Amino acid sequence: MTHIDLSVHEVQENLNPFAISQAQLDEAAEVLGLDPDMHAFLRQPMRELHFTIPVRMDNGRTKTFPAFRVQYNDARGPAKGGLRFHPDETIDTVRALAAWMTWKTAVADIPLGGGKGGVICNPRQMSQGELERVSRGYMRGIAHFVSIHRDVPAPDVNTNPKIMAWMLDEYERIHGRHEPGVITGKPPELGGSAGRGPATALGSIVAIREATHALGLHTHGSTCAIQGYGNVGSAAHKLGSEILGLEVVAISDEFGALYNEKGLDYEQVSAYVRRHGRLEGFPEAEDISNSELLELDVDVLTPAAIENQITRRNAHKIKAKIVAELANGPTTPEANDILVENGTFIIPDFLCNAGGVIVSYFEMVQNSSNFYWNESEVNRQLDQKMTRAFLAVHQMAEEAGVDHRVAAYLVAVNRVAQAVRLRGWV
Ligand code: GLU
Repeated sequence: MTHIDLSVHEVQENLNPFAISQAQLDEAAEVLGLDPDMHAFLRQPMRELHFTIPVRMDNGRTKTFPAFRVQYNDARGPAKGGLRFHPDETIDTVRALAAWMTWKTAVADIPLGGGKGGVICNPRQMSQGELERVSRGYMRGIAHFVSIHRDVPAPDVNTNPKIMAWMLDEYERIHGRHEPGVITGKPPELGGSAGRGPATALGSIVAIREATHALGLHTHGSTCAIQGYGNVGSAAHKLGSEILGLEVVAISDEFGALYNEKGLDYEQVSAYVRRHGRLEGFPEAEDISNSELLELDVDVLTPAAIENQITRRNAHKIKAKIVAELANGPTTPEANDILVENGTFIIPDFLCNAGGVIVSYFEMVQNSSNFYWNESEVNRQLDQKMTRAFLAVHQMAEEAGVDHRVAAYLVAVNRVAQAVRLRGWV
């Protein structure tokens, strides 16, 4: 007779990102007393495109990749949001991410809606040629679904400026004219904005600065752990130490984590990563696990990887005073409640990581006026927008007596609902 594991009878935490995004909206709708018809409308994406990309692989065979683009809501402006290449991508993840983009552009108060795209593929197992064919194939699939007036893609997990350049080229070939604003996060030579690369991390630095002010803490010498060492996590390491004087004591990538109580030097770590392709084995640190990193006794914890990293299983072990969510959806609703209960100051994802889309918006503005700003001008305007967004959320949290995630939803949902109402949709 087989052993019966009693834990399977425990009610499982729902980790479906779309169900999570809907549950978060439901909570905000209740606090707001949102009209039920408006609530029902905002619970669903407005439009979705599901398609396939047949790609000739290097071995001569053709592989078919499933792909999606979701336009969640465009009441405030064209849908806006990144594109992920991931082997575990699902339509529900893309829906959730598109919903979060809707709240992100609203909380940042930029005139855009929310969208997201995804391709189920593993870029680590593809050659550059295969990657280019998948990228161009994706753009062929969406070329009549997106435009500067309808929907503007950008980079996200496993996509980058090089991929944006291929996609822009494909779009312009199909439509027969230059249209740089149809995609953001481009290389600067093709109309990308100065400062777009580190923008997400820089925005979070502004948010962490404001949160430490609100808590009466000093940033200089405060300790920080960063989960994830992609574009966003590594830039947070650099800028967190340079600008705020944070002592970054732990970092991780998908293979493992590093810890040094005296702090990890960004230049040394990045030189090591350039040489070895991963953090593992960096001599100046102790190897720890990803879960140990999350549970360290630090001032600031920065999850900068993917969804569902802080769940009800580990939330009660989190000791950080501030959780700055650089990833999208790193904390489940149950974990959020546990952290709030324990007095953790959470800077919720769609506020904390809004810097990327804010500079994407600046990129669109520069593309349409064909006039380009320097990096210090971009950073100055980014700081202003992030500070305003943070203060609006913080003030809402105090006034309404709710946690910062609910407060961010209240600010964002109010703005989107108002646009929907003015258009007469609901
Ligand atoms: N992918 C980024 C995000 O999740 C940026 C999106 C954009 O620039 O449109 O916010």
